[in-house]
Amino acid sequence: MSEPLQVAIRKVAKRFGTRQVLDGVELTIQPGETVALIGPSGGGKSTLLRCINGLTHFDAGEIRVGPHLLCGGPQLPPRETVIQIRRLFGMIFQDFQLFPHLTAAGNIMEAPVHVLGVPAVDARRRAMELLARVGLADRADAYPRELSGGQKQRVAIARALAMEPRGLLCDEITSALDPELKHEVLAVLEELKAEGLALIVVTHELGFARRSADRIVVLDGGRVIEDGPPEQVFEQPQTERARRFFRQVLA
Ligand code: ADP
Ligand code: MG
Repeated sequence: MSEPLQVAIRKVAKRFGTRQVLDGVELTIQPGETVALIGPSGGGKSTLLRCINGLTHFDAGEIRVGPHLLCGGPQLPPRETVIQIRRLFGMIFQDFQLFPHLTAAGNIMEAPVHVLGVPAVDARRRAMELLARVGLADRADAYPRELSGGQKQRVAIARALAMEPRGLLCDEITSALDPELKHEVLAVLEELKAEGLALIVVTHELGFARRSADRIVVLDGGRVIEDGPPEQVFEQPQTERARRFFRQVLA
């Protein structure tokens, strides 16, 4: 087994125009931990995930992902660092972002073949294993347009797993799904957690967060306003802002 993978976020700041979207975010995520990142819309959750993954460059502070360091400021990080981080943490989005012209198996094989140089026959075999793992062994040759939202999202998870990441960054991956399809995606996440993958999950599913997360982090106005185990954050939030957010979500 490779070395433990910690994510350390120190004083990360990011603005878009005049808007301070991240305002000194401090957060340490221990190896294998499942963190639910929640909070009001516009609070900076997506931006923070994108910074961790090197999709958004930040203005100040630093993010360490295992041995790799991203520094904020004028200079962009080395391309190689970003590539290494993306191999450790796959990212999954609300809108799936599958390639429409490729089948389920084709989507999963794409990066192993084109980025890692895995022979197509091996990549196909691995894609079939991954599809089985997310309960879609019989849909390998379906195109995204032929799949339900829940199935598309499970293909997207399998595609991320094909790079053998140590963790996943999930940005509201059930928000576009009908209620009855959410649970099939959340069930896959729970299995991955049980297998030891680190999960950083932006979600509005507070039931899932409470049940499955080791830690709840509430981001509001670009700052961490709550950070603790689910019982503590949900039952005894430290801030009035978080109490108001929970009332609104649960209303
Ligand atoms: P959340 O995911 O918590 O809803 P986001 O990180 O998406 O929050 O957005 C935080 C704020 O940053 C919002 O006000 C949003 O409009 C703004 N923002 C996000 N991305 C961009 C961008 N690429 N350009 C300009 N503003 C952005
Ligand atoms: Mg968002």
